[in-house]
Amino acid sequence: MWSTAREIAAGDVVIVWLTRDLLQPLLITPGKDFNSKFGNYRHSDLIGIPFGSKVGSRNGKGFINVLRPTPELWTMALPHRTQILYLADIAFITSWLDIKRGSRVIEAGTGSGSFSHSVARSIGATGHLWSFEFHEARATKAREEFTRHGMADIVTLAHRNVCKDGFAIIDTVDSVFLDLPAPWDAVDHAKRALRKDRTTRICCFSPCMEQVLRTVNALNEAGFTEITMYETLIRPHEVHQIPSLLPIGDVSDRLKKAEQRREEKRLRQIANARSNLSGKRKRSDVADGEPVEGADDTGNKRVKTDDEDEIGSRIVAEGSEANCNPPEPVRVANFPDTLSSGGEVPSTDAHMSSSKINLSKAMPEVRGHTSYLTFAVLAPAAKVADPLGSEVSAHHV
Ligand code: SAM
Repeated sequence: MWSTAREIAAGDVVIVWLTRDLLQPLLITPGKDFNSKFGNYRHSDLIGIPFGSKVGSRNGKGFINVLRPTPELWTMALPHRTQILYLADIAFITSWLDIKRGSRVIEAGTGSGSFSHSVARSIGATGHLWSFEFHEARATKAREEFTRHGMADIVTLAHRNVCKDGFAIIDTVDSVFLDLPAPWDAVDHAKRALRKDRTTRICCFSPCMEQVLRTVNALNEAGFTEITMYETLIRPHEVHQIPSLLPIGDVSDRLKKAEQRREEKRLRQIANARSNLSGKRKRSDVADGEPVEGADDTGNKRVKTDDEDEIGSRIVAEGSEANCNPPEPVRVANFPDTLSSGGEVPSTDAHMSSSKINLSKAMPEVRGHTSYLTFAVLAPAAKVADPLGSEVSAHHV
C-alpha cells in the first residue's frame, strides 16, 4: 500500500497537513499547483523531498507538511462520497472481528473506502477483502483509489446489491462487516459466505435503535449467538503535567525528617510545660510551708502528677494541632500505587516517569455518536455422521 520510498515521487499520493482539522490528499502531478489559504506550492517542488517534510509556500503565506499516507491519515483526509467510519469505530470493529494478517473479510457497502483501507493494511497480502457497493459511480471511484493505493491485489470490489443478490461467496470468509441501511436483509447472505469450520464473526453498523432491533432479530433467526451491541463514544481528557516531582526515596527521607522535627518539638513543649508547672508548685509549696507528697530530698516535686498528665496531653494535642498544618503536598513519581496527588488535581488516570507525572481528568461532555455496533458470532458447524456413513456438516437452521 502506498509508496514506501523515503522521498516523494511523481504519481505518489501525499497527505497535505494544513491544520489539525484540515488535511487533504494530493496526487503529485508535475505541472500542477496546490493552492490553499496557507499559500501556493508547485507539485514539482515536492518531488525528491522526504515524506514528512515541512514546506514553505512560494508566496510566503505559510507552510504545509507533506506526509506519507496511512489508513488513519486517509480516513482524516479522504474525499467524502458518503458518511464514513472513523478511527474509534474502525479500531473497535477490527479488534472484535479479530481481523488480522491473512484474514478473509467481506464488507458492504464500500462507501468512501475509509474502513476498506484499514482492513487492507490489517490483513496484508496474505488476506483478502471482498468489498460490495451498489452505487455504480461510488464503486468505480473506490476501485480507482484502491488501484492507485496499491491495494488491487488485496481488495476485490464488486458493484452489487448485496441485499438482493447476496455475495456469491460461500463458506469462505472469517468475518463480515455490514454498513448498510438494511443490514438484516443481508444477514442470511452473510451466513452463507462465512466459513463453517471455525468460529466466525459479523458486525452490523446502524445509526438508530430500530435498525439494531431488526438486525438482532435477523441474527437470532439465522442462528448467530453472543449478540452484543456497543456504542463507541469519544470522551475528551484534560491532561495536566505536574513538574518537580521527587523520587520516592527522597520523599520518604523528607517525611521521616519532618516527623523527627515534630517529635523533638513535642518533647520540648512537654519539658517546658513540666518545668513551668513544677516551678509554680514549688513556689506555692514554699508559701504554704507544707511538705509536698512525692517531693525529693531537696523539696523538688516528683515529676509525675495527674495534672501533669493532663497538661502533657493538652500540649501534645496542641502540638499536633500546630503540626496539623498539612505538610506540602508530596507527589510521588515512582509507582502508581504510591501516587499522592495532594488532593489538588482530580485524577482519573496517571502516567508516570521518574521526574514527571501526567494526570488526566475525563471531561463530562461525551461526543462522537456515529452508530451502534451489533456484533455476533457464528459457531462452527457440528460434524455429524450421515446415514450413508460419511461426515456432513450440520449448521444452524
Ligand atoms: N463503511 C464505508 C466507509 O467507511 O467509507 C461507508 C459506507 S456508506 C455509509 C454505505 C454504502 O452502502 C453506500 O455507499 C451505499 O451506496 C451502499 N449500499 C447501500 N445499500 C447497499 C446494498 N444493498 N448493496 C451494496 N451497497 C449498498
